[in-house]
Amino acid sequence: RAKKAGPGTVCFFEASDDRASRDRKALQSDLEGAIARGELFLVYQPFLNLGENRITGFEALLRWQHPQRGLVPPSEFIPIAEETGLIHEIGEWVIRRACATLADWPDDIRVAVNFSAAQFHNTGILQTIVQALADANLAPHRLEVEITESMLLSKYGSAVSILNALLQLGVTVALDDFGTGFSSLTYLRKLPFSRIKIDQSFIRDMLVQPDCTAIVKSVISLARDLRIGVVAEGVETADQLEYLRQIQCDEVQGYLIGRPMAADQVPALLHSKKHRATYAA
Ligand code: C2E
Ligand code: MG
Ligand code: MG
Ligand code: MG
Repeated sequence: RAKKAGPGTVCFFEASDDRASRDRKALQSDLEGAIARGELFLVYQPFLNLGENRITGFEALLRWQHPQRGLVPPSEFIPIAEETGLIHEIGEWVIRRACATLADWPDDIRVAVNFSAAQFHNTGILQTIVQALADANLAPHRLEVEITESMLLSKYGSAVSILNALLQLGVTVALDDFGTGFSSLTYLRKLPFSRIKIDQSFIRDMLVQPDCTAIVKSVISLARDLRIGVVAEGVETADQLEYLRQIQCDEVQGYLIGRPMAADQVPALLHSKKHRATYAA
């Protein structure tokens, strides 16, 4: 980039690239001690099942409370964790924390945990998951693993064998951000996914762009024919919810149903009948 810029601008670009890379290095070294200092925590966002009209589970979403910068979003620190290999330690913490928390919740509630591609390059992840389930005394079907298509692109073979082993155990597997990657349909043939999560970009435009309406309808009917569950991500309006109910989407997730919340807020949400009244057909 510096080469393309004219004389006089070179210095400016170097300085700002330098600053960005220093900033990234600082964040990276801060992240190394974040677990030990107790700066990471999970928030939980509910899934509403439309057929059963109840909350059936929660997705665990990682947060980093940085002592100076405040809350750092996962879009900023997960890529750093992946590049540095810290994702293994962080991922193990996430799975153990999510399982321990789920153990306090009712048996008909599941927890979905997000995984990065790098975590599936190493078969140790299988043992980590089995151990976390055993330590929390949880039935494997209560845990859902969320992966994206891009994860299957890299290291395809090892990811598939680990996922098959998990499915064998009874852990369920969801294909996250469906529609944003490549070759979705091929992957649907190769792995017995339990659920597809339609990416929030499709839900956002579903009621304004006819093409998008067609895509969402088709994915829901495809999932039904394949006998796998389907979740709509990013539901923000009552109109979106109403439409998804009409076209018989199984489950919805989004700010309308609930924002990601602290674990200690979950029991109150499960006890309240509020969501039943609010979202009754
Ligand atoms: P994701 O798994 O697709 O999670 C959904 C994201 O959409 C979350 O962002 C969630 O807070 C946000 N969201 C939920 N409902 C709505 C809505 O109605 N409208 C809008 N605009 N957004 C909504 P978040 O928590 O910032 O997470 C971003 C991504 O970071 C996740 O995307 C996931 O890929 C990754 N991530 C989060 N936690 C973990 C983790 O523990 N491990 C790994 N490897 N990745 C994680
Ligand atoms: Mg997810
Ligand atoms: Mg998603
Ligand atoms: Mg996403």
